[in-house]
Amino acid sequence: MQTAMTYVQLDPRLSAACQPTPVMQPQWLAVNTELAEFLGVPEALCGTDAGAEIFAGNRVPDWAQPHALAYAGHQFANYVPQLGDGRAVLLTEVIAADGERYDIQLKGSGRTPYSRGGDGRAPIGPVLREYVLSEAMYRLGVPTTRALAAVATGELVHREEALPGAVITRVAKSHLRVGTAQFVLAYKDRALLQKFADYVIQRHYPACADAEQSYLALLQAVIDKQAQLIAKWMSLGFIHGVMNTDNMTLSGETIDYGPCAFMEAYDPQTVFSFIDRRGRYMYQNQPPIAMWNLARFAETLLPLISDDKDQAINAATSAVQEFESVYQNYYWQQMTAKIGLTPDHSDAQALVEDFLGLLEQHSVDFTLAFRALGDADTTRFATLFNQPQQWQAWYQRWQDALPDDFDPQQLQTINPAFIPRNHLVEQLIDEAVNEGSLTRFNRLNQALREPFNEREEYADLMRPAQADEAVTRTFC
Ligand code: AMP
Ligand code: MG
Ligand code: MG
Repeated sequence: MQTAMTYVQLDPRLSAACQPTPVMQPQWLAVNTELAEFLGVPEALCGTDAGAEIFAGNRVPDWAQPHALAYAGHQFANYVPQLGDGRAVLLTEVIAADGERYDIQLKGSGRTPYSRGGDGRAPIGPVLREYVLSEAMYRLGVPTTRALAAVATGELVHREEALPGAVITRVAKSHLRVGTAQFVLAYKDRALLQKFADYVIQRHYPACADAEQSYLALLQAVIDKQAQLIAKWMSLGFIHGVMNTDNMTLSGETIDYGPCAFMEAYDPQTVFSFIDRRGRYMYQNQPPIAMWNLARFAETLLPLISDDKDQAINAATSAVQEFESVYQNYYWQQMTAKIGLTPDHSDAQALVEDFLGLLEQHSVDFTLAFRALGDADTTRFATLFNQPQQWQAWYQRWQDALPDDFDPQQLQTINPAFIPRNHLVEQLIDEAVNEGSLTRFNRLNQALREPFNEREEYADLMRPAQADEAVTRTFC
């Protein structure tokens, strides 16, 4: 295992050395052996007692130097100057099989200097949710942090009720966030800011180092990566739920799977998160919110972009405004591909818009509707609607737009059969908490390993929630 710590050596003000707090009785919930192999984590730690000790935080191996990282952030648009890893520690950075550097972090591992009033712990439910969701996103082709391990603690965590606790091991290209840059900016120390920005460039956007204006190039690179990411989310019906600036990475990976959820029936105003009372982070707000967050990131770079304040603001503002067109490009690429067309086809965008309109009007499941477009006939597609008149005109227009060599099967590699549907996630959490069983968890994980490969044995995992199963609110 090729480990090293680089970020925590940048400046002592940006992190705090901090040991995980041991737990009573570590017990494996899940281990990601494939990811372990990729990272070079020894096989002897996967699923063994020795591994459970490490991934519960009971023993710190010689390759780890646990640190909690500091960050700030806008939470629901309110600036909070000091957040930071309140229940997580970075164990180490590792060079993986692809030659890239990754963070390995324990989350739920006890209090840190940044815990404020919190207990530093995580209940088993959110840990299992993050495990399933982040791995599903990875398999769906979305940039994301991943889950290496989940270990139950044998202790209770006190929320509204007492719940069994767990620790999840998260792997990320880095844990640097827009909120990290905001935290650095607050020191008003130009040398520190430059050191931080140079680190981000070196780790995530090395090409920017050669650009004429490196820091403006960094801003543009992050904007581009985030535009791609949000377009991916939108194309899959993913709703993050807490797009605070501390939950937006500089690498462009999805991070912090809290009250996130996938939309079922198409409705642009869908909100699941219990804490998102005004719908700030609803499905259709995700692109403008991303742009708002990127403006906050742009502000952190102003002192580096130019010594002339007006010039810096002008350059940064133009870069942030570019988000809209950059995002639109990615979005239409994704969405037109879902119906087998390219954005340059004259009717492609209108076909997508009208299709979404039909799904909204008739409350049709977003995932299944796109999936059924790749069927050889219309049998399954028809069952999603009540009457043929609801879809036939659109369908004919779509057929007419398709190229002669169109093969519906190509859509089956773009439109997934399986997503982690909310009721399935709730059911597996319920089973784990109340029956101590991981049967549903393991089965859903197994199905989601190949989300584009429809399999009869998992047919029940494809269908939307029935009325009595529907989950309308999610909690973190
Ligand atoms: P989140 O809403 O999960 O993005 O977390 C926002 C902030 O609250 C971060 O600084 C977290 O580390 C902190 N936090 C969340 N839960 C806890 C907890 N149980 N104990 C301590 N800090 C926490
Ligand atoms: Mg967070
Ligand atoms: Mg969190």
